[in-house]
Parts: sequence; structure tokens; C-alpha cells
Amino acid sequence: MRETKPVQDTPGAGAMPPPPDDMSIDEMNKELYDGGDEKDIFSKTQQFTLADRARDLDIYPFFQPLDNNDGPVAQIYGKTVLMFGSNNYLGLTRHPYVIEKASEAVLKFGTSMTGSRLLNGSTKLHEELEGRIASFLRMEAALVFTTGYQTNLGIISALVDKKSVAIVDKADHASIYDGCQLADGDMMRFRHNDADHLDQILSRTEKAALVIVDGVYSMAGDIAPLPELSAVCKKHHARLVVDDAHGLGVLGEGGRGTPSHFGLEHDVDLVMGTFSKSLASIGGFVAGPPAVLDWIKHFARSMLFSASLPPASTAAALASLDVLEREPEIVDRLQKNGLRWREGLRAQGFDVGRSDTPIVPVNVGDEYRTLMFWKALLEEGVYTNPALYPAVNMREAILRTSCMATHTEEMVDEALGKFETVGRKLGVIT
Ligand code: PMP
Repeated sequence: MRETKPVQDTPGAGAMPPPPDDMSIDEMNKELYDGGDEKDIFSKTQQFTLADRARDLDIYPFFQPLDNNDGPVAQIYGKTVLMFGSNNYLGLTRHPYVIEKASEAVLKFGTSMTGSRLLNGSTKLHEELEGRIASFLRMEAALVFTTGYQTNLGIISALVDKKSVAIVDKADHASIYDGCQLADGDMMRFRHNDADHLDQILSRTEKAALVIVDGVYSMAGDIAPLPELSAVCKKHHARLVVDDAHGLGVLGEGGRGTPSHFGLEHDVDLVMGTFSKSLASIGGFVAGPPAVLDWIKHFARSMLFSASLPPASTAAALASLDVLEREPEIVDRLQKNGLRWREGLRAQGFDVGRSDTPIVPVNVGDEYRTLMFWKALLEEGVYTNPALYPAVNMREAILRTSCMATHTEEMVDEALGKFETVGRKLGVIT
């Protein structure tokens, strides 16, 4: 892979070369899949020039290496930037207590478990974390996986067999879709956050159903209408799973997530979450009835055939949970910053869609303008994430932004000022 040019060496957004107007996005996309030698599995890799074209235009946004990341502030290519593009919602990745506990765990248990939970990959730390997650979420039990991605794969593929069906919200996370692909049963989709459509779909199936929704949607930052969804599930005896990757630490009493936000902790059958966001680590969990977890732990291939969460990551998640329980006010700080950020962008005229959380998409539409916007903001010292097709629909590109509990008001206001200046210059707002 070629090196991208350092940010400080690149021309300003206004000086960037125009997009290739000889080819539409559809044509570029078609180029990815068509042509070449069908008998050579590598031939498509030669056809794939989209990333190179973006590199040539100096607007390639992915896999950019950070020099350092302190949380609300990071360094990239030697330049200091305000971080408005991470999932480190509570800012705990640099918390001294979390670092101390992760370091202690390496010294005590070593760097890796070198095996799956089933065999040699469990420690007292893993069990302690499961107990703590269950009591924090007021669920009966919890089960820890190596990543959130594997958790969704494991839950869905273990539970949804030939006699049952997975029913997902159209906007669900990719790991939920991938879990459905791995499962033996069928998959059906209902319109985003549309409980009536879910009702219709459930009315049409005789099969046992597992309904899976995100608590907070990772791109749009909107919240699932759990009261309505849960009522529909109950009506049809369907089981409801909430992927609360972006709700944990963000919503609800003391950061207990989306079910708590709605006072529905006892109405959701399984809660799934990750440690890779608010809990400043990596890993995933599912919480729910012990018998269901016992089934999952013996049939989830993504758990059985993959090495377990390393001790340092396990200890970091545990320590983050300690901090969250001891200092629940950090959730209030996150929500206050989220409001300031979201409403600030809205007041400036940006289209932030349905966001109701610290995840705030800025809807731009055109792919090239989105990349120009991303690049110009980076040059001005604000880090964001462009999301392009296929992560979102074609011509519906966004900048995904998110703020943190550890941003100061001054940082939020400084970033807002830069968004306004760059947004006006590029015509994203008028
Ligand atoms: N679910 C959702 C909603 C997510 O956003 C993510 C990660 N972005 C995952 C699951 C997967 O989590 P992990 O990063 O821990 O694999």
C-alpha cells in the first residue's frame, strides 16, 4: 500500500483537483466486480482502482495511522487534532486507574490466553467480568466473547436454527447481518424503527423468532423505540435481543444503556454489548437467562473456535466498569457535550438527521464533497470519519462524528467553529 501524503503537506480543500468526471460512482462500483479473468481469483484485485484514485486525489480517508491518541485530542502526521471520530465515549482509554489495572493483569496473567474460553482461555478475571456486567445491567448472567462482532455471530448462529427465523431492523449493524448468514435459519428485515412493520412480519411467520435491533444506531445516532418493539415481540412470543454497543455508558441510569433509558430492563430477553467503546477495551458480551447463555457458550462457534479475550483487555473493561459505577456523573458530562455538539451543528444549518445521542452524523450526500469536507476539517485540526457506500446508501455519504465526556466545552465550541467555517467554504451549509 502506498503512503498517503502527510496532512500538513497537502493543499487546502479549495486547491484540490476536481473529481474524475468521466466516471460515475455507479460505474466505478461496477468496475469493482466486472471484467478480468474469471478463472483467476486475484484478477479482481487488479480491477480495484477506486482506492488508488482517491489516493491520487489525496482524499483517501481510511487506515490513517494516528501517532498518538490521548482521547479528546490526538496526533496524526505530527499535527494535533480534536478527536470527534472515536467510540471512546467516556474517554476512559487514558484513565490512570484503567491503565494500572490492565498493566497489573499483564504482569499477573501474561499477554495472551492462547486458547478459547472452552479450554484454556478462561481466568477468574473473565468470570469476574461476567458477574459484574450481569449485576451492572441487572440481568441474571453474562457471557464474555473476544469481540462484539463475534458476540453477534455467536448469539444468532447458536440460536437461529432451521425451525426459526432472525428478524432484523434494516439499519442493524453488519455483525448482526453476518450472524444471520452464519445461522441455519431464515432472515427477514423490517423497516428501520418501524414497530408496525415488525408486527406485520411477525404475523406472517409461524416460526420461532429472534428479533435483533441496535439500541443506538451507530451511524445515525438515533434510538430504537424499545417500548413499541418489545410490546410487538411479546404479542407474538418472539424473543428480543438489543445490541447496545453504542447505548452502554451513553444512555440510561448511570450508563446502563437503552433498556434502562426506557425503564425496560426486564422486557428485553438478551442484551449484547461491546467493551470497545465506553468501556475502553475490546471484547463483547451477551447478558440474559443462564440457560440461554449456557446454550450459547456450547454452540457459538465464534466463541468455541477463537482465542479468548486477553487478560489486559478483560481487566481494562472491569476497571472501566469500576470507574463508571464510582463516577456516574461522567455519563451526564457525555450527554451534556452531546447536546452542545448536536444542537450546535443543527443551529449552524447542518443536517444531523435523527440523531438523539452523542453520535452525530453530518449528512453531506455527495461522496467527493464528503471526502473534501473530511480532509479540510482534518487540516483545520478536527478528526472525523467519512462513511461512504456501502456503509451508507450511494449518494448519502455522511461524516460520522461523536463527542466524548472528556471534551471540554471549549473543545466542542472550537470544533463547532471549524465545522462552520469549512462547511460554508465547501457549500455544505449556506
Ligand atoms: N454492534 C455494533 C452496533 C457496533 O457498532 C459494533 C462495532 N462498531 C459491533 C457490534 C462490533 O463490536 P466490536 O468492535 O467489539 O467487534
